[in-house]
Amino acid sequence: MSNSIVHILNNDCPHCLKGKVFNEKSIFFNFGFPKMNQYCSHCNYKFEKEPGYFFGAMYVNYGLTVAQGIATYVIAQFFFTETFDLRIIPIIAVVIIAMASINIRLSRLLWIYMFKNYSM
Ligand SMILES: [Zn+2]
Repeated sequence: MSNSIVHILNNDCPHCLKGKVFNEKSIFFNFGFPKMNQYCSHCNYKFEKEPGYFFGAMYVNYGLTVAQGIATYVIAQFFFTETFDLRIIPIIAVVIIAMASINIRLSRLLWIYMFKNYSM
């Protein structure tokens, strides 16, 4: 399990753990739409198993975004005296926008790793 997290963050192929899912040096510090490899360069594993396969990754992305929004609120509330200070909302928005690029990549990697044992 902890190994899987390392491989997800390293952008490794779920099948051989050697190839890369995204054609980028790092899944972090990248902006714009992700450039994804169609097949693993090492084992030829097909990442997009069927058309619309990554539609489900959208729900993972939503979950990540909500979790980060809640985490931001919990951290930010310590800096305000009122419990529901409305000035926290723009802080949450900035964090969500800053994390969006990472979340796209992370959600697709999580989605691939969730279904890696189901072959077609
Ligand atoms: Zn591979």
